[in-house]
Amino acid sequence: MELLNIKNLDLNSKKVFIRCDFNVPMDEFGNISDDRRIRSAIATINYCLDQDCAIILASHLGRPKGEKDKKYTLAPIARRLQQLLKREVTLALDVVGEDAITKAKELERHKILLLENTRYESGEMKNDKNFSSKLASMADFYINDAFGVSHRAHSSVAGITEYFDVSHKAAGFLLLKEIDFFAKLINNPARPFAAIIGGSKVSGKLEALINLLPKVDKILIGGGMAFTFLKQLGYDVGNSLVEDDLLNDAQHIMDQATKLGVKLYLPVDVVAAEKFCADSISKLTPAQEIPDGWMGLDIGPATVRLYREVLADVQTILWNGPMGVYEMDKFARGSSKIAHFVADSYATTVVGGGDTADLVQRIGVDEEISFISTGGGASLELLEGKVLPGVLPLVIED
Ligand code: AMP
Repeated sequence: MELLNIKNLDLNSKKVFIRCDFNVPMDEFGNISDDRRIRSAIATINYCLDQDCAIILASHLGRPKGEKDKKYTLAPIARRLQQLLKREVTLALDVVGEDAITKAKELERHKILLLENTRYESGEMKNDKNFSSKLASMADFYINDAFGVSHRAHSSVAGITEYFDVSHKAAGFLLLKEIDFFAKLINNPARPFAAIIGGSKVSGKLEALINLLPKVDKILIGGGMAFTFLKQLGYDVGNSLVEDDLLNDAQHIMDQATKLGVKLYLPVDVVAAEKFCADSISKLTPAQEIPDGWMGLDIGPATVRLYREVLADVQTILWNGPMGVYEMDKFARGSSKIAHFVADSYATTVVGGGDTADLVQRIGVDEEISFISTGGGASLELLEGKVLPGVLPLVIED
């Protein structure tokens, strides 16, 4: 699959609209805790500056409900961009309102305008035509560099592309890199290939789990999602996170794994807590012996040892989703131990998902990972074999 490439556009001195993914994690004080997604957009922005362009940047942040909500302003993003680019970035007061439209119109070469959070507009998530056309009207060219949101058919990602012909739209450097990497990973992974899948729920990753099965040799499950599987095996899981409506799906995944000869691993012990809070009393227990009323919030040391052994001989590791509630120190140990092991491995290691990327960064092993994807959901959908709605309009037809 070949994509329209930013390098083939005649951008000289033109106005360019770049959809970025600045949806970065914030800490409890509202500080950006991992700016990887912002840093990853710099190559495309600098390239456009070198082509003497005027640049309009757009992104969403969090989930405002289709209206202005100060909590989700892109002001911190504008500040960080300014630091990284060492030049002024003007933040519009709105997305397609009078302020943004006027500023976009008057934008001069080498100047950068950042629109406010695209999800301040209800049209964004509905892929609304009217909203898409207003966004498109601001620029001569459209660049998608927002891999992390390319699996969403939203206006600034999908709808907007209809207003640009093939010589006026393309993928930016980040999108090109991500798509290229995952194409290689899917078509030709070095084997054995293991996927470590964690995070909160089975529901978020059900499709991905099913579609990964024929591609991988081993699946290691952790995080909250493990308990739906453990319950299905007949274990008492206390108050651990369980999706009762997915017990059959969990069984189906285990059956498929057996049928396909894929080795599926579940935690053998857990760190159980009385309450879902950072200072709760906790104890180590075998997965079979979680006391009534307690909940498993991390994998235990025996599971870490088991998973290390399972991963010792693999050549490719894909990791999506933390092994426990890593935001609380007490329940971060399992994720941290696995992160160190993955980082030290000589296998090709791929981390996908905002939380997992945040995790390896916090632990300080991000430099040791072969590839950290800026898109969790998007990378899983690629691995499912889907063509993403934000990418499809940029595919070069034969
Ligand atoms: P996801 O967005 O599905 O990848 O899930 C990430 C979230 O899963 C993180 O915020 C973790 O705190 C949470 N998580 C991981 N393990 C557990 C667990 N055992 N119980 C509840 N939540 C968990």
